[in-house]
Amino acid sequence: MPPVADIGVIGGSGFYQFLDRAEEVKTHTPFGPPSDPITVGEVNGRRVAFVPRHGRDHRFPPHQIPYRANLWALRSLGVRQVVAPSAVGSLTPDFGPGTLIVPDQLVDRTRSRENTFYDRNAVHVSFADPYCASGRERAIAVATEAGWPPVPTGTLVVIEGQRFSTRAESRWFAAQGWTLVGMTGYPEAVLARELALCYIPLALVTDLDAGIETGEGVTQAEVFEVFAANVSRLRDLVAGIIAALPQVQPDDVCAHALDGMRLPFDLP
Ligand SMILES: [Zn+2]
Repeated sequence: MPPVADIGVIGGSGFYQFLDRAEEVKTHTPFGPPSDPITVGEVNGRRVAFVPRHGRDHRFPPHQIPYRANLWALRSLGVRQVVAPSAVGSLTPDFGPGTLIVPDQLVDRTRSRENTFYDRNAVHVSFADPYCASGRERAIAVATEAGWPPVPTGTLVVIEGQRFSTRAESRWFAAQGWTLVGMTGYPEAVLARELALCYIPLALVTDLDAGIETGEGVTQAEVFEVFAANVSRLRDLVAGIIAALPQVQPDDVCAHALDGMRLPFDLP
């Protein structure tokens, strides 16, 4: 298939529809179908492929999302850079609901998920810096310019879910110096790296994690309100980042993740 898009967006909650007047593309992958048919369209002059992470009707809980199919399908359409917004809980009252964070580190606390494409051969990709450095930098610059300056670093701990953390877990995560809790950031990021894709995370804080709440705490209604108020803002920001993302540079680390590796199959 000739490339039809070069930037992918994996949208989380509130992102079921991202592209207007887009064309639906059916993709088949060796790892089954993606969360939903992928839509391809144009955003600010760039060709973009969009997949709703949880499915359009939110039928996939975090541990059931077909992560491998989603990433494989995007790559097969020509995508080499992935922008990945998600909703997260904050581990510090300093970063309350509505805060935008561009994490730079990740801790994996999941346990039941397929987290590699390579069930044969030794394919040990480097994951010391799990996200695309130049893409993160660009995202931070665009958000700052748009008047929504993000917290420019942070550690996202990805839990198995789908339950939320206990207070003790939450306090323990915070004591490690970790910043955010989410349920979908892994294995998504490592699967992108395993396909030599640039992966740019955008985390929107919707609540304070259990055990971190102080005072009266936020009510669920307030959380929903914050989320609704910010999701359109987040969509606009993703569109702005897409417009500003340069083509993948020849020296980009993500693009070279598989150099010298013997892969058990050809990548799409
Ligand atoms: Zn990159």
